[in-house]
Amino acid sequence: MQRYFARGKATNMRSFCRFGLHFTLIAMVLVSSLRLAAQAPTYDLLLKGGHVIDPANSVDAVLDVAIAGGKIAAVGKDLSVAQAKKVVDVTGLYVTPGLIDIHYHVGHGGAPLDWFTPEGRVHLQPLGIPADWALTSGVTTIVDAGTSGAETFLLEKEEVIDRAQVRVLAFLNIVANGMEGGLEQSVDQMDVKFCAETLKKYSDIIVGVKTAHYWTAGPWDGEHTPWAAVDRAIACAEAGKVPVMYDFWPRADRSYADLILKKARPGDIHTHVFAQQFPILLKDGKVNPILAEAHQRGVIFDVGHGQGSFWFRNAVPAAKQGFLPDSISTDLHTGNYRTISMANVISKFRAMGVPLSDLIQRSTVNPAREIHRTELGTLSVGKEADIAVLEELHGKFSYIDCGLAKMNGDVQVIARMTVRAGRVAYDPSGLSMVEWEKARPQYFNNPSEGNPAPATAEDLPQH
Ligand SMILES: [Zn+2]
Repeated sequence: MQRYFARGKATNMRSFCRFGLHFTLIAMVLVSSLRLAAQAPTYDLLLKGGHVIDPANSVDAVLDVAIAGGKIAAVGKDLSVAQAKKVVDVTGLYVTPGLIDIHYHVGHGGAPLDWFTPEGRVHLQPLGIPADWALTSGVTTIVDAGTSGAETFLLEKEEVIDRAQVRVLAFLNIVANGMEGGLEQSVDQMDVKFCAETLKKYSDIIVGVKTAHYWTAGPWDGEHTPWAAVDRAIACAEAGKVPVMYDFWPRADRSYADLILKKARPGDIHTHVFAQQFPILLKDGKVNPILAEAHQRGVIFDVGHGQGSFWFRNAVPAAKQGFLPDSISTDLHTGNYRTISMANVISKFRAMGVPLSDLIQRSTVNPAREIHRTELGTLSVGKEADIAVLEELHGKFSYIDCGLAKMNGDVQVIARMTVRAGRVAYDPSGLSMVEWEKARPQYFNNPSEGNPAPATAEDLPQH
């Protein structure tokens, strides 16, 4: 009994020592991991308390979004503030994937036939606007809609695409020289082989083929047959297995019905859908059934608002009857100051009564799918952290269309912050920033007195 007890005691002592050792080890691990957590937070940025709308993942709820190493690290309830280097309170705001504007213009466009003629002067101004302007609307990916063609794409890539903060992809114009130059109506310029080769060479950037502005007036002739531009754009797109984006003008021998019911392939995109020249409504005001029929075939409809392609007389009755374009886009270019921004186009549809979640779907996951880039337009964990923080304002607002008509509304959507690849690229109201009185000492330095840079208020994951 005693021996047993003694042995038992010894065993207990050994167990106690082993337990003590374990306890010490666990405590050491805990302390060191706590210290590690204190030294190196898990998240670079934590967006706290926003209403997350991520249609790709069927998320529509108040959640936190955490970012680490430029990627989405977590989306969930009550993510740890202690683990974040920087916390941004986005309570009352919407947090969505960075928006995708698939009809935008950057770069110069085509050249005139002769720079020294009076007509040449209209080309002095580039057609495209600065790519990064898109960031001011929560847009993190833009797609240039055919400003350049096979011959001019490299210039656009080197001048704009490679230098932009916003992600820039492109539809390649079937016209080798590009958009609105002196060669735009030359069918010889619509070189399928050159187009297909360029598409293959830059397949990481070029997501489709664009045809636009082709022979909208003037008699048909041996060179200018009704479908020459459309047919050649399709031939190039087939070679590259990418969609065509159509900017189209219906004529007697070239109907809209033929474009969307016969020519366009499933996955091809008709942009400018609410422009004045399309029979969107029948005489009795009902939405033309050819739209549903084309949609059934897989044809995609895009807004492409632009300077002349968005009319309330088409858009409002269509939206009321449940016909909405698959994707929302601006068609921003230097000749267009009516659209203003992606947020403005979204606001118009919101003011027509379309729910915000529906509009986010049409400006994130839908366009991503249309350009075959499904890794974009989502807040899935592991994907690049492209995020828009939006606010919905309520009050009296009014909007205009390309027919210079007005529509009143009681809601407006604005961008408050844009995060591109995990870094804050746009934050005009300082959501992510510290009040100046609370800035670190360097902020108060006068650099001309030999004080060390940086003099910013704090370190931020900022562009
Ligand atoms: Zn355009």
